[in-house]
Amino acid sequence: MLTSTDAPAPVRQARPSYRPFTVSVAAIRQLSDTFTRVTFTGAELYDFGTAGLDQRVKLILPLPGVGISALPEDESWYAAWRELPDSHRNPIRTYTVRSVRPADREIDIDFVAHGDTGPASRWVRRAVVGDELVIVGPDALGPNPRSGIEWRPGDARSVLLAGDETAAPAICAILAALPRDARGCAFIEVPDERDAMETGAPDGVQVTWLARAKAALHHESSTHEAHGSALESAVRAWTTRSVTTAQRGAEIADVDIENDILWEVPEATTHGSDLYAWLAGEAGVIKTLRRFLVSETGIDRRQVAFMGYWRSGRAEAN
Ligand SMILES: Cc1cc2nc3c(=O)[nH]c(=O)nc-3n(C[C@H](O)[C@H](O)[C@H](O)COP(=O)(O)OP(=O)(O)OC[C@H]3O[C@@H](n4cnc5c(N)ncnc54)[C@H](O)[C@@H]3O)c2cc1C
Repeated sequence: MLTSTDAPAPVRQARPSYRPFTVSVAAIRQLSDTFTRVTFTGAELYDFGTAGLDQRVKLILPLPGVGISALPEDESWYAAWRELPDSHRNPIRTYTVRSVRPADREIDIDFVAHGDTGPASRWVRRAVVGDELVIVGPDALGPNPRSGIEWRPGDARSVLLAGDETAAPAICAILAALPRDARGCAFIEVPDERDAMETGAPDGVQVTWLARAKAALHHESSTHEAHGSALESAVRAWTTRSVTTAQRGAEIADVDIENDILWEVPEATTHGSDLYAWLAGEAGVIKTLRRFLVSETGIDRRQVAFMGYWRSGRAEAN
């Protein structure tokens, strides 16, 4: 999935905002059954953007028998990638920078394991130190080193963060960067309670890890509760308890998540409201929460970022 901010700028600039960095695996750490942390290293990471938060990157993954086709290391990479023959066009997938250490020329990415069904999850299961790939990400010296960041709370004093395991790296990075007087809450749905991590959230922001396996035990259902149901219940309960809105729910256009990307992010950085909400995860779950927050509760859409990070049953489209 390429959004408008990832697409190369039409005017050639001296230095691109968002560009390929060739890297190799420096270390692999199994954080839990769900999360694998891969540390990448590369000479050029010295110039990688450090804004953090929900910093999105594109991974250009090797093809069996081909490796990684050569691409220009500037903003023309995407056009060149599109021109490649099918047999040599590497898969591209979207991930979050969990942390970046330019002085050490290192980046960490936390991968969710979901079997061998996609090129990224397949790659991480077999990755070993020294494996190479390409990360397309922000250049600290480019005109917009914040390319690929959607977290824009403006002057809101309270935050709601909600997401599944694929959004956990972004939520953790955002929580650690919040001003120490921030307040609000974060709900992170994960497969198992052992997936919970330290977040470094400010004292006023309550972090709740919702383990699907545990929820299933409580409901005496199968081994896992349906994806998103714990998150939906938690967001509904918190919103009903904590949010009062002056206006009635707004009509919103339906998003066809089978064919389109659910990506609704407010542009404005100042909207004068108290609450800023950021939701990301499986598109069907985020679509349900969008309807609840905007149509049922009446929260202004300019206060909420809704992002479908993946769609159940569908590979990421490039
Ligand atoms: C901005 C952004 C940031 C993201 N950050 C991260 C991150 O830091 N870490 C991370 O792990 N993911 C992250 N994701 C999600 C990741 O891009 C998707 O999960 C992606 O589909 C994985 O690619 P793949 O090659 O493994 O599977 P694909 O080839 O895309 O899909 C193959 C099949 O696997 C299914 N699938 C994909 N992801 C999952 C999953 N998590 N659980 C179960 N089934 C799945 C699909 O529905 C499809 O049926 C992010 C997505 C976005 C848009």
